[in-house]
Amino acid sequence: MVSRVVVAGGGIGGLATAVALHQRGIPVVVLERAPEFREIGAGLSLWPNAMRALDSLGLAAQVRAAGAVETGGGVRDRAGRWLSRTDNAAIERRHGWPLVVVHRAELLRILVSALPASSLRPDSEVHAVAQDGSGVSVTHRGGSEHADLVVAADGLNSILRRQWWPRAAGPRYVGCTGWRAVTKPLPRLEVEGAVLWGRGERAGFTVLPGSRYYVFGAVTAPRGAAFDFPRHFAGWPDPLPALLAAVPDGAVIARDVHDLPPLPTYVCGRVVLLGDAAHAMNPILGQGACQALEDAVTLAACLDGPDVDTALERYDRVRRPRTQSIVRRSARLDAVAQWTWPPAVLARDLGARLTPARATLRAMEPVLGWTVG
Ligand code: FAD
Repeated sequence: MVSRVVVAGGGIGGLATAVALHQRGIPVVVLERAPEFREIGAGLSLWPNAMRALDSLGLAAQVRAAGAVETGGGVRDRAGRWLSRTDNAAIERRHGWPLVVVHRAELLRILVSALPASSLRPDSEVHAVAQDGSGVSVTHRGGSEHADLVVAADGLNSILRRQWWPRAAGPRYVGCTGWRAVTKPLPRLEVEGAVLWGRGERAGFTVLPGSRYYVFGAVTAPRGAAFDFPRHFAGWPDPLPALLAAVPDGAVIARDVHDLPPLPTYVCGRVVLLGDAAHAMNPILGQGACQALEDAVTLAACLDGPDVDTALERYDRVRRPRTQSIVRRSARLDAVAQWTWPPAVLARDLGARLTPARATLRAMEPVLGWTVG
């Protein structure tokens, strides 16, 4: 049985892991580089698999109440015509939970409030981990911590992955800039949220609580390209231009999108990778944080067993194939979304229009149908 755990990184994955361990009575500290536990960022889609993970932590109802549930949505073409529709009631009937869109800061607040203050160590950037037969020693800005196990939940550019997986390839640029923002409060629109697919670019919107909208998208571009997003999407169908105009100045967050080539294992002795540190993925399926939540509750459940090494082996066996297949699936879909050649775009859009909504939902079944193992 594990007697103390250090989590490196207090994002969604790290905090959810700490909550799951704390609920089992396992002492845990979360070392976070930032001066406070806070997410910059905008909205976040939480699919039923993530809601099930949150439900196992007793937090799903709170998250649902803090988020927004649209009746539907889907994908439109560049002219605004529907290509495929999502029926959120059908998702809820099938999976027990709908798609919930929450502000990241709200999700973080809920996770933080499920932990005792003594577990939370902001301003504690992790520098390195040493391992010996008796466990791990984690050196950080404020000193060091000893534990049986360190969970490396330190994101895409994980320092612990670089230290313990020195030969692993680093993050791979997927060829587009992802952008997101939250509008000021606005009168409620009469249209359902949607993602519009253009040629090598996409833009979407969905409602958030507080009469705000989450707007997001991606533009195929060389690494480091900068955009004036309101101007870039000015000619797109309503309500996108109006929504972008309602984003406070300087509030669009734009970053080059990376994913992570597959690792041969998520475990190295008593260092275990979780969330983006293990399997950062293209955001097109909205599954990165959902998978981090699945990782968190699965790792904690594995640690219920008597032997830590067996628990970590099991975590790796269960989580690696699943998460790596979702990384691949996201990459495949993004490659199609990034098409720019007009005949290919026409064929793509026609294919999407001819695919029945039921078939699309069925294709997502293996992702959304996950249950806490
Ligand atoms: P992170 O969120 O990166 O957290 C890592 C934490 O570790 C941070 O707090 C960081 O400060 C800290 N840290 C880093 N280094 C150190 C260190 N050395 N010491 C201590 N702390 C450290 N996913 C979804 O499920 N749904 C979506 O709708 C969705 N939309 C997205 C849209 C975009 C444009 C992008 C880019 C991603 C999207 N994702 C989405 C993916 C999602 O944001 C990530 O998968 C998720 O945030 C990963 O969480 P994490 O805790 O693993 O890592």
